[in-house]
Amino acid sequence: MTSGGHVQIEQLVKHFGDFIAVDDISITMPAGQFFSLLGPSGCGKTTTLRMIAGFETPTTGRILIDGTDVAGLTPNRRNVNTVFQSYALFPHLSVFDNVAFGLRRKHVSRAEIRQRVGRILEMVELDAFASRRPARMSGGQQQRVALARALVCEPAVLLLDEPLGALDAKLRKNLQLELKTLQQNVGITFVYVTHDQEEALTMSDQIAVMNGGKVEQIGPPEEVYERPNTTFVADFLGTSNLIDIGGQRTDPSGTWVTLGDQEVFLDQPEIPEGASRVVIRPERVQVEAGVSTGLNHLVGQVAHTVYLGNSVKLVVQLHIGVSVHALLQNTGSEIPFRAGDHVTVVMPPSALRALRDTGVADHDDSAA
Ligand code: ATP
Repeated sequence: MTSGGHVQIEQLVKHFGDFIAVDDISITMPAGQFFSLLGPSGCGKTTTLRMIAGFETPTTGRILIDGTDVAGLTPNRRNVNTVFQSYALFPHLSVFDNVAFGLRRKHVSRAEIRQRVGRILEMVELDAFASRRPARMSGGQQQRVALARALVCEPAVLLLDEPLGALDAKLRKNLQLELKTLQQNVGITFVYVTHDQEEALTMSDQIAVMNGGKVEQIGPPEEVYERPNTTFVADFLGTSNLIDIGGQRTDPSGTWVTLGDQEVFLDQPEIPEGASRVVIRPERVQVEAGVSTGLNHLVGQVAHTVYLGNSVKLVVQLHIGVSVHALLQNTGSEIPFRAGDHVTVVMPPSALRALRDTGVADHDDSAA
């Protein structure tokens, strides 16, 4: 197999008439990584992918693959291949012939075709299906044929546009892990477009979170989840409590921000310029019975409890005037809180982050 290609996107812009679909983005995708472009519908991720593939021409900016500017190269001259959500398999051809199609066009010898197609079908665990027609296969199997067809040509970069989008949730989960393993085995760079945050977190080495044509943050899954820089990133990657900051001061011990009429301490080395909200994940919010004081202790009253199976969500109305969600692991014992209970919410300094406010995606998960 070939080794992965290094993709360098520099100040890339794409206009459709007056509309700016991609707005000056720069991304480095190291060779051999599973790199996801994550964002809501319309954020420009597919357009970015299509520019890497060569199906769209950038308005300005550059795309380099292994150091070569690909601007003048047609899609088939770039060392990339694309897997779409719609598999676009040839219905009248067998699995083997579907996968062999690209190699035949390149006049690869019959013996080599047999060997390469055989090996790739083994890799996607379809060797037993070589003579079957796509119509007699499940959606997941068809998607694997599409993957095999793209991989058999040994591109340096595989571009995947929501390839699991048409599959049901359970199959998607299985295929996520398979795809990740496959990527590690073949060693080529995967550029994966998705609007599904869980999918991106599960599979990626790095994620670029996009919003309105711009990249808001790039980093490994743990980093974008644990240390988001903006409200949009915090909100898009899971559920977040977002609370407005009233004021901010720094002393030798670190940074304090005011929430309502109370100061809390942040264990955050660098506060982004213009930070106006703090985030804390519901699973990091601690709830104690009764009213107590201490660092980052905020008192409140349980508004309601929601049983979620593996966890219990508490909605606590804080005296500072906002409500927060807390997620308690379901340990099998009875929920120790009831609506109306007076409680103290503890926000550990390491769990709080100040963020720039870039809005939230079009759903209502935040508790603020
Ligand atoms: P989705 O997941 O819905 O595909 P996306 O993040 O991939 O979303 P893009 O397909 O990149 O978004 O589209 C970004 C924006 O550019 C959208 O508002 C879309 O309507 C617009 N757009 C895309 N292609 C064209 C085109 N050929 N002409 C005009 N506008 C376009």
